[in-house]
Amino acid sequence: MTYDAIIIGGGLAGSALAKNLAERGYRVLVLERESRFRDRVRGEQMHPWGVSAARRLGIYDPLAAGCGNQTRWWTTWLGGNPVFNRDLQATAPHGAGSFNLYHPAMQEILLELAEKAGAEVQRGTTADSVIPGSPPKVQYRGQGKTVSLEARIIVGADGRNSHVRSLAGFQVSRDPDRLMIAGLLCEEVPAPEDATHHGVGPGAATLIAPLGQKRARLYFMYRKEDGVRELSGERRVSDFLGCCRSTGAPAEWYDEARAAGPLAEFNGADHWVDKPARDGVVLIGDAAAATDPDWGTGLSLTLLDVLTLRDSLCSASDWDAAIRLYSLQHDRYYGALHTVTRWYADLLWSTGQEAEERRKRVLPSLLTQPRGIPDVIGLGPESPIDARARRLFFGEEEPVHA
Ligand SMILES: Cc1cc2nc3c(=O)[nH]c(=O)nc-3n(C[C@H](O)[C@H](O)[C@H](O)COP(=O)(O)OP(=O)(O)OC[C@H]3O[C@@H](n4cnc5c(N)ncnc54)[C@H](O)[C@@H]3O)c2cc1C
Repeated sequence: MTYDAIIIGGGLAGSALAKNLAERGYRVLVLERESRFRDRVRGEQMHPWGVSAARRLGIYDPLAAGCGNQTRWWTTWLGGNPVFNRDLQATAPHGAGSFNLYHPAMQEILLELAEKAGAEVQRGTTADSVIPGSPPKVQYRGQGKTVSLEARIIVGADGRNSHVRSLAGFQVSRDPDRLMIAGLLCEEVPAPEDATHHGVGPGAATLIAPLGQKRARLYFMYRKEDGVRELSGERRVSDFLGCCRSTGAPAEWYDEARAAGPLAEFNGADHWVDKPARDGVVLIGDAAAATDPDWGTGLSLTLLDVLTLRDSLCSASDWDAAIRLYSLQHDRYYGALHTVTRWYADLLWSTGQEAEERRKRVLPSLLTQPRGIPDVIGLGPESPIDARARRLFFGEEEPVHA
């Protein structure tokens, strides 16, 4: 066997894992479909618990130097006014702010780091067949030829519509539809760049992730049951900006905004695999669990996968056992995160008078971060999710203020 790991997909998941395994002496091949990365409208805002994982994986500094903007504050806006300014460095347990990065540049930087660490990277190649087994096999196309290879493990890191996942026969579970999200990269957005901005409006929300030099990734989120708005394509850019303008943050921030990439809309519903490893094939990143982008947890969860799988592989000679252990751990932490984001969704997006009253009662203490309450930004899957945490979260028990 020529390779220890063949990784299909050179996104955040695949390239961060390739770098980490190659620099520990493992023989790694990365197969990446794209010859050049383009804006696919993906995640560009990483929570503090993801920043902590990025540091442990040795990718934070190169990303910060090459394509990232570290922000200290998380500002919530209502009707054009700031209602809460959270100092993430002081209040998030990992002591980090949130980190905004331009996704295509991030992919180029990480794939280059993987190559420098000794991984072989083949771009413009598409995996067509994955056969679980001992050893697992992959067949791929690229540069006019078809190649078949075996490895100790095959890693599916090919994103939310993972082909490896279906080729290897994993079952996918899916949440009911709830939220939609549209995203666009813009220039000339004068939002303060030391903060990530969260705008809240009736039945909708925005996120503004400043990338530096007045460039920002804008997201607009809304309930699917209120009617799909189809905010995709060049012709809908001014409608998209209109939706953002009326949702929380100062309207004048959008006056000069200019599109600098494609506009695309997605159904947010989580979809995931329970036990994302079998017979030599293991899934990481969005291929294992694509979380609802409305909570901005995908990049951070992806890095947690890479960290967990790396540590598991590097501490065992039996890689079948190592990927089984990863898959158990993945079920646990993704399950915890999923519980937390479902609670947030129920609290923030439910309709009706009762839900409205509960929001009024609970949101002020949630924003000021009392102890013991699930915190998707600061803690993610490390949040408490026991019965008391649930009661505190939904305002059924008095919180203890930090
Ligand atoms: C609209 C939207 C907004 C988001 N916003 C946020 C956010 O603000 N914060 C956050 O944390 N997360 C966000 N996310 C989620 C985040 O983008 C993902 O969690 C993250 O990109 C997952 O990384 P990945 O490497 O698993 O997959 P991907 O980034 O999808 O990378 C997969 C790679 O595999 C390659 N590939 C695919 N198929 C094949 C094949 N057959 N053979 C070879 N290569 C292949 C692709 O070209 C790609 O390079 C958002 C997602 C969406 C859709």
